[in-house]
Amino acid sequence: MNRFTPYLPALEKALRKIDSWRSQFDSSDEVSDIDSDQIDSILNNLCDRLNGNYPFHHPSYAGQMLKPPHPLAWLAYSLTATINPNNHALDGGPPSSEMEKEAVQELAKMVGYGDTYLGHLTSGGTIANLEALFVAREIHPDKSIAATANAHYTHRRMCRVLNTEFLEIPVDEQDNPDLNFIKDHADQIGTVVVTMGTTGLGVVEPLSEIIELAHKHGFRIHADAAYGGFFSLIKNNLPKLKQWKQLSQADSIVIDPHKHGLQPYGCGSILYKDPAVGKYYKHDSPYTYFTSDDLHLGEISLECSRAGASAAAFWATLQLLPLSENGLGSILKKTRSAAVTFSDLLTDSKQFELYQQPDLDIVGYFKKPDGKKLTDVSRLSHEIFEHGMKAKPDSGYHLSLFKVSADHFTTRFPDYKADSESVTILRSVFMKEEHESFIPVLAERIGI
Ligand SMILES: *Cc1c(COP(=O)(O)O)cnc(C)c1O
Repeated sequence: MNRFTPYLPALEKALRKIDSWRSQFDSSDEVSDIDSDQIDSILNNLCDRLNGNYPFHHPSYAGQMLKPPHPLAWLAYSLTATINPNNHALDGGPPSSEMEKEAVQELAKMVGYGDTYLGHLTSGGTIANLEALFVAREIHPDKSIAATANAHYTHRRMCRVLNTEFLEIPVDEQDNPDLNFIKDHADQIGTVVVTMGTTGLGVVEPLSEIIELAHKHGFRIHADAAYGGFFSLIKNNLPKLKQWKQLSQADSIVIDPHKHGLQPYGCGSILYKDPAVGKYYKHDSPYTYFTSDDLHLGEISLECSRAGASAAAFWATLQLLPLSENGLGSILKKTRSAAVTFSDLLTDSKQFELYQQPDLDIVGYFKKPDGKKLTDVSRLSHEIFEHGMKAKPDSGYHLSLFKVSADHFTTRFPDYKADSESVTILRSVFMKEEHESFIPVLAERIGI
């Protein structure tokens, strides 16, 4: 049952292999005077502190986008970190830089970019998006970057960092971006950010319709698929196939392996359709060392030091679970199926209501109050949320709260009285494969 300990013999064997590589040089790596008692005691204290976490590993945790990495990713990360290569340059870690290139090539293949692209891993989605927006600004220095209110909040902030105007695309009550607004402001827009799986409710925005406008008006498209990117592996099983089919049309794409790619934190990625954008990163550093003529990861990234261990972990994971429908896709199918089953239970429920059909594996819902007032919906959401957190491990659950505007709510549920400007509903992220079989238990615990 325990996820990680069965891998300890493999880790120990691999560590010994690395040790023997190390000892070829001399014995400087050998230590004999470890104070085991002190180490034990520090680790013991660490465990006590770590036990203060919510149970991210358990399917009763269906709150935020959190889960442990695949044990193989953890193992590969730990092993590589004993060497601690730095992927800022090929020479900071030749093997892990090669692994990064191979893993990024798989990502490029997954999104349909083929062989001509430019890309690299980053320490996360925010930095990857910053790079995409940086290139967007370099290409259209006098134009703005547009995104909907459902886009990740960091886009607006990064536009301030880049000193670029951010234009918010209004959405209607069903969260559809206002395409006429984009049309009307087209001469002012350099790039439109389209979110393929919003962080809130996993909504896939209408990429295909926005691409049509981009072709007509000449603006760029950046697809923020930090959360949703890996779902393109199972696009045939998703409601918005038409949108996923257009992903390769985007000029840049961000995907977070540390969200749905089973990686420990510290692994995002950015891909560009046109490798020529590499020129915007150009820099001359007196510190970097060039012993090869190959493309140098540090020359195409805004960050300098990055963990080679992240690249090794992602690369190793892809050896076990390749980017195919039956590889990593098999896990996404289960998370999607969990969300569909949970939504069906909500639809059939007398006490609860599904907020909207999920596009991915994130579900919004609420408990129906007697009086049909928004303030009562919010109150019940808070009560249910807190009840699950306070309960014992064998009967508890962890959800999250999500605020929507009264307009959006009453458009979906016209018989509710808008006695407040916004309403808090419940939100569950079913991003673990274990969620699939746990849904009935979870629904019962919540009282659905
Ligand atoms: C998580 C997320 C981000 C931010 O990525 P980090 O890896 O947390 O920095 C950006 N956009 C979307 C759509 C996300 O879901």
